[in-house]
Amino acid sequence: MEKEIICCICGEHISGYGHSAEPVKSGRCCDKCNKEVVIVRVKEFFNAINKCK
Ligand SMILES: [Zn+2]
Repeated sequence: MEKEIICCICGEHISGYGHSAEPVKSGRCCDKCNKEVVIVRVKEFFNAINKCK
């Protein structure tokens, strides 16, 4: 029996374990949202750090 995981961003079913949606949301997200939302957020975060140097 596989556990059913729902993406906390788009609400779609995730096949497999999905990805951590943090820091955007606490929970799991699907491949699509991981690429489109979370990675963009992480890049922005690191860009902001680099600008402070
Ligand atoms: Zn999603």
